[in-house]
Amino acid sequence: MSTNHLMGVYNRAPLEVERGRGARLWSTDGTEYLDCVAGISTNGLGHAHPELVQAVKDQAEKLWHVSNIFRIPGQEALADALCESSFADVVFFTNSGTEAVECALKTARKYHSANGAPERIDIYGFDGSFHGRTYGAINAAANPSYTEGFGPAMQGFHQLKWGDHDAIKAAIANPTTAAIIVEPVQGEGGCRAMPEQCLRGLRELCDEHGVLIIFDEVQCGMGRTGKLWAHEWAGMSPDIMAVAKALGGGFPIGACLATARAASGMTVGVHGSTFGGNPLAMAVGLKALSLINTPETLNNVNEIAGYLKQQLAGLQSRFPDVIVDVRGKGLLIGVKLVPNNREFMALARDTQQLLIAGGGDNCVRLLPPLNLTLDEARELIVRFEAACEVAREKWAA
Ligand code: PMP
Repeated sequence: MSTNHLMGVYNRAPLEVERGRGARLWSTDGTEYLDCVAGISTNGLGHAHPELVQAVKDQAEKLWHVSNIFRIPGQEALADALCESSFADVVFFTNSGTEAVECALKTARKYHSANGAPERIDIYGFDGSFHGRTYGAINAAANPSYTEGFGPAMQGFHQLKWGDHDAIKAAIANPTTAAIIVEPVQGEGGCRAMPEQCLRGLRELCDEHGVLIIFDEVQCGMGRTGKLWAHEWAGMSPDIMAVAKALGGGFPIGACLATARAASGMTVGVHGSTFGGNPLAMAVGLKALSLINTPETLNNVNEIAGYLKQQLAGLQSRFPDVIVDVRGKGLLIGVKLVPNNREFMALARDTQQLLIAGGGDNCVRLLPPLNLTLDEARELIVRFEAACEVAREKWAA
């Protein structure tokens, strides 16, 4: 076995993962790791959660797949549950986050074309954002590292900078604007949370000008910030929202949620997916949502996040030569480092058996499961602190 026959698009760590349980992962050589990557925020309930395992088993014995030309009870149940717990009236199920974003972009443009404004095609994303790897998603994020070499830019996609209020106002007032797309808390970009008053300001401006708001909560949704949806902190809601990752507890799933009005162009035959809404994914999604959307899980996120932030701030003051900033929301925590985040990830893994993710802006991301215990959180800090010691020695040399 080797990586020779895998397309070389990943810089893979030399760690062969064999199995997981809760916040623990074991490699094939038997080493145990504390996993604060959690599938990059997918395993919101940790690895091999018994109730998710049971949900998959029960469904696997009944029905794996059936076409969307039939009614699928599990799909209807999960759509009901998502709509009951959000602003949305309707849902389209996909297999990934990027496809959920794709559906969101199409829904927004189709809304305008179906409602007498076909000239409204422009979509504005924000710097530092990540929306996935399909053509629509890379164009919406408009980050050259994702688009370079992949042909002409797709028409009608533009980028705004956070804080550039004049440009934002002008973009929203533009009569050809269809939508803006925002991650309320950026994940890949380095755990930047858009200020709540900015989110409310966007809502007001977009309402004034008939522009739709798309939120990409693929990473920050599903309880990650301590509320089911990150935008709930701002007391406002979007018209359309992409969700994925923890919705499947690690199973491939995505969903595009929308108000009935925003989805009014999405009529029979305009969109579809063979596997989206697959009964297996729906069964595990319904169980994951029911376990995450509880006061127990959400309170745990807030408590553990409070503890981690406080401890990390302490480490920042003790290791100013290693840590520059601690940011993020809930258990989407970014630690901005002085030198090299990749090197820090490798040394945390190899010397402390602590798995953390990278992020833009020289950050490492801590994305532990939402049900992390206080003991595990303490262990995380002990390992992180030891990694800072190693980094300090290494970087001082
Ligand atoms: N949007 C955001 C905010 C993401 O973090 C990601 C994945 N990191 C995606 C979209 C794409 O999701 P997927 O990889 O499931 O296509």
